[in-house]
Amino acid sequence: MSLTLAIVGRPNVGKSTLFNRLVGKRLALVDDQPGVTRDLREGEARLGDLRFTVIDTAGLEDANDDSLQGRMRRLTERAVDMADICLFMIDARTGVTPTDQIFAEILRKRSAHVILAANKGEGSAADAGVIEAYSLGLGEPIRLSAEHGEGMNDLYSHLMPIIDTLSETKVDDAPETDVGLDEEELDENGFFQAPPITNAKPLQVAVVGRPNAGKSTLINKIVGEDRLLTGPEAGITRDAISLRTTWGETPMRIFDTAGMRKKAKVQEKLEKLSVSDGLRAVKFAEVVVVLLDAAIPFEQQDLRIADLAEREGRSVVIAVNKWDIEDEKQEKLKDLKESFERLLPQLRGAPLITVSAKTGRGLDRLHDAILRSYDVWNRRVPTAALNRWLIGMLEQHPPPAPQGKRIKLRYMTQAKTRPPGFVVMCSHPDKMPESYNRYLVNGLRQDFDMPGSPIRLTLRSQN
Ligand code: GDP
Ligand code: GDP
Repeated sequence: MSLTLAIVGRPNVGKSTLFNRLVGKRLALVDDQPGVTRDLREGEARLGDLRFTVIDTAGLEDANDDSLQGRMRRLTERAVDMADICLFMIDARTGVTPTDQIFAEILRKRSAHVILAANKGEGSAADAGVIEAYSLGLGEPIRLSAEHGEGMNDLYSHLMPIIDTLSETKVDDAPETDVGLDEEELDENGFFQAPPITNAKPLQVAVVGRPNAGKSTLINKIVGEDRLLTGPEAGITRDAISLRTTWGETPMRIFDTAGMRKKAKVQEKLEKLSVSDGLRAVKFAEVVVVLLDAAIPFEQQDLRIADLAEREGRSVVIAVNKWDIEDEKQEKLKDLKESFERLLPQLRGAPLITVSAKTGRGLDRLHDAILRSYDVWNRRVPTAALNRWLIGMLEQHPPPAPQGKRIKLRYMTQAKTRPPGFVVMCSHPDKMPESYNRYLVNGLRQDFDMPGSPIRLTLRSQN
């Protein structure tokens, strides 16, 4: 779990601009109008050799009523509580405003590590504002120009010691786990247990699918209205990169790839963002939910994203949405399963769940399927069991003997998880036909109960 930095400050000071610079891809939406960015959005930031998670927050507004601004403020407070470090941003050209002062007060009370940044700091128009920033009582301000990339070195030198100190108390979470020799618990099936899902290490789920498949509706249903801030108020954006929530008992971080088509003004920007957003979501996710529209399932775009998820080594769950409007459910389900097997053989055995994001039907089953997939993806088979299994497989179907020389498979071990990856030591690996690999992979899938997850098999030469 990497450390989290929340960028907070009133609207229009340049938070999204800095977020974009840190995340390195144009994922957050920047707009000239105040308050366009209202969700908590996360991205993986890079600054020199520092890596951390950055949250771009709603503008901190001095409002206590239950209006949108009140909700935004609560969201921001939640972000501050969630974050390890807060970067409080003011606009150096405007100078310190009463709103800045109120929120500086909140941050002093609420956050252990606050970094103060005076943005729009390029040029002499910002000089007075930078000096004024000292009056906030949050230490020396960093003079930044998020737009022009100035002051990033200063930001680095402020952040580095804090991250250094904090990360000593946190364990890093690599996307792929190399299997070590450490003793771990076996579960009731004789497999090593998956790492627990906790608040500090929420399950990372991406919801992907064609426009209109119902992604927004589904995520809304899962996270609850408060988080997504959909509604009739003007200026709501839906380009969230990720949202934290607890679904059932499970802490999750959900990557939302839904575009914001609802706001015509920024339509074009978002269309451009949505493709790379989808790819990125898949890369970050542990489990990918491919959401299909029951009326038009398995279109090219659906197949492409499902295939991409497999190639990226993610665990996949297929969810067929809008099941509430299907009449011939039995018949339809049969067709769906048949198409699935034919069109996505690489995802053999992945769960296919019918849901209605609108009514909420099937969401419990979807939740359970996601957890099961996560389990399979983390599955690790003890070496002794694997080698017993290999002997059986070899007896049942001896490997081929190209040019009269039989390929010998000697020994097998699981080299990694997430997804499961196996190494087989053998003679002449280059001569092994693909069909024998498939025989082994399908056997592993079946005999060790690993449906859905990609399985990697590598042959290594050993004579
Ligand atoms: P947010 O509401 O705090 O997320 O602010 P934005 O990132 O959307 O920025 C608001 C406006 O300030 C946009 O027009 C940005 O182009 C502009 N802006 C951001 N950073 C800078 C900067 O360093 N210098 C100047 N001059 N303008 C900036
Ligand atoms: P996105 O583009 O994937 O985010 O799709 P949206 O969530 O915006 O949904 C597209 C349309 O499908 C909207 O009109 C939704 O109301 C509708 N929709 C979403 N889920 C369901 C569902 O389960 N049943 C029905 N009947 N309609 C749905």
